[in-house]
Amino acid sequence: MEKILQEAILHGQKYTHNGNPASYIPELQKVNSSDLGVYIRTLDGKEYGVGSYQQKFTIQSISKVLVLTLALMDNGFDKVFGKVGVEATGDPFNSIVRLELKHLQKPLNPMINAGAIATTSLILGKGGNEQIERILDFAKLVSDNPHISINEDVYHSEVQTGDRNRSLAYFMKSTGVIEEDVESLIQVYFKQCSIEMNCQDLARIGALYSNNGICLKTGKEIIPKSICRTVMAIMTTCGLYDASGEFAVNVGIPAKSGVGGGILAAVPNKIGIGVYGPALDDKGNSIGGIEILSYLSDVLDLSIF
Ligand code: GLU
Repeated sequence: MEKILQEAILHGQKYTHNGNPASYIPELQKVNSSDLGVYIRTLDGKEYGVGSYQQKFTIQSISKVLVLTLALMDNGFDKVFGKVGVEATGDPFNSIVRLELKHLQKPLNPMINAGAIATTSLILGKGGNEQIERILDFAKLVSDNPHISINEDVYHSEVQTGDRNRSLAYFMKSTGVIEEDVESLIQVYFKQCSIEMNCQDLARIGALYSNNGICLKTGKEIIPKSICRTVMAIMTTCGLYDASGEFAVNVGIPAKSGVGGGILAAVPNKIGIGVYGPALDDKGNSIGGIEILSYLSDVLDLSIF
């Protein structure tokens, strides 16, 4: 397996020079843009890592997977999908245009920023501090890593440059999608995006979803199966922004990317994969990361289709 992962990294390296780290959150530029890492966890408990798999990065939009899962566990399907839809948009991740369409009345899905902010508003807790504590605790639980923390520098960088996200939140407050205090909510969202992990953490999370929410170590249910299946379906249709269709065709694995350069991938009943490569394409996806997953999908026959 290590040999295959090494070949996947070599394949990915051919593409990293075509992309750049995200610049709209200035702190995200402080990376080595040629870094590439991959980690795999199989459902029989084997783990393999190659390249910069120990390099930490902020999970950014990958947090939307965890927050959707927790929101569903907190509130059930009806309440969550009463606030946010499950349809792909074909629009950029931070788009605002469709929020004004009267017939929709809610953001289209929980993987775009608007839908994610609405989903975060559903996390139970007395105020923003308790909400982010619960999200962080959940991140530690699903990654089986009690040391997961928030990167304060990235968080402050998001606070300084996040006016687009504030505008999404205020717009949704005006239409009634968001009921709570916007300033407190948006801080929770910035913090969840600033949670730091490495490829190993992502692979372990991926393996948990692949295993229908049953902990590989203890055999205990951490996430109900119906929620795992729903979240993986939404990852498949909406997980790579407006490149989700192309990714489904070329790679065919439920996955979620983030502008920090990470991609979380979960192959149902097979393996969890974490990849990292901060050079992004123009849609905000890791260029090398997509190529690594595409290579692995071909060689290991991982497409779900
Ligand atoms: N914090 C980022 C934002 O809200 C997350 C975006 C992403 O990873 O796609 O703009």
